[in-house]
Amino acid sequence: AVAWVIGLSGLPMTHRPVTNVLAEVLAVLLLVLGWRFRRGRLAVAALAIALANFLVRGPLTENPTAPGGAILAFLLPITFVVLALLPERPIDQPLIVALLAAVVVESWLVTVIGRTGTSPPGQILGSVGELLRAPDLARLVFLIAGFFVALAFAARRGSFEGSLLWVMAASAIALIGGGGPHAATLALSAAQIALLLGLIEDSYRLAYHDELTELPGRRALDEALPELEGDFAVAMADVDHFKRFNDRHGHKAGDEALRMVAAELRRVKGGGRAYRYGGEEFAILFPGNTPKSAREHLEKVREAIANRKFALRAKDRPRKKPDRPKRPARPPRLISVTVSIGVAGPNSRHTTPDTVLRAADRALYRAKGAGRNR
Ligand code: GH3
Ligand code: MG
Ligand code: MG
Repeated sequence: AVAWVIGLSGLPMTHRPVTNVLAEVLAVLLLVLGWRFRRGRLAVAALAIALANFLVRGPLTENPTAPGGAILAFLLPITFVVLALLPERPIDQPLIVALLAAVVVESWLVTVIGRTGTSPPGQILGSVGELLRAPDLARLVFLIAGFFVALAFAARRGSFEGSLLWVMAASAIALIGGGGPHAATLALSAAQIALLLGLIEDSYRLAYHDELTELPGRRALDEALPELEGDFAVAMADVDHFKRFNDRHGHKAGDEALRMVAAELRRVKGGGRAYRYGGEEFAILFPGNTPKSAREHLEKVREAIANRKFALRAKDRPRKKPDRPKRPARPPRLISVTVSIGVAGPNSRHTTPDTVLRAADRALYRAKGAGRNR
């Protein structure tokens, strides 16, 4: 926003050195973090932004009429689309190394166009740049690229893809906002900050969310539990004979079953919030509710889980869809799992949320002893 205002108002920038250093410090920081946290795409994006910043402050400013800027405004959004579509991998993987090199070559090309309009390669690149300088083309490229990045974000919901959306907006302001080199540096620093925030958000999600079941994890439970007060109920749920289930159907099917159980637990009514306690155990907190009412809602979930049949993927399932599907020799086997649940609320003996949780755990083991699926 600041870069935008500077561009519109033509305000003089009084702290140029500070903003220049900021962009460079952020670039180095992101490259180191990308290497340490095995985030190759983050490193490529940081390098691309850093080089774009170098170009708008140096080669492109010295020769503002050169078509290099048009090429940069074309290549940078495409780089971001490629990054949004790729899976994450560490910085030393060949693909990431190739991308880092490609970003450097891109910048070199832009520099060549900025400097030499007369040498044969410079002339060829210059005419390409002239073509790309068609009015509104850069805006169109940014819009289309932004659309693809948004699609990748919608599909993956990743923090990196999310931060790339902000990076795209900031780069558009920097390269085609018309605010001059200082506004561009500010906007590109904002792009680096967006990448940094994406990384922080990602770390938070990894710490508090369980990847397999997509439920909040143990750490989130440990923070939510002490906040319960007044009327509340706590439930503990455990999958029945799950070791046997894994032995029979394999660990993959076990994971599938856990995801199904988690999806049902998440749907519990009465204000209940499900957490993965660990392994095949779940905790459900009901703030502001009584154990009696929580029990009715949990009973419905227990029943829904027991009634849900799912088919195991056959081991010999062909990778591609065959032209004439073979009739399966046997219909796919439908399997199901059950859970046992214990629920408790505060009373004169169990006053703190922690002791209530332990009471719920004892109730759970009574349910196991009484035959499970109850
Ligand atoms: P009970 O009815 O008494 O609860 O019997 P159980 O077999 O479910 O109890 P136990 O605690 O002995 O076994 C838990 C099993 O859960 C053992 C472990 O292999 C499995 N398990 C824990 N976490 C996961 C996971 O993330 N994926 C899969 N597939 N299995 C898991
Ligand atoms: Mg267990
Ligand atoms: Mg179990």
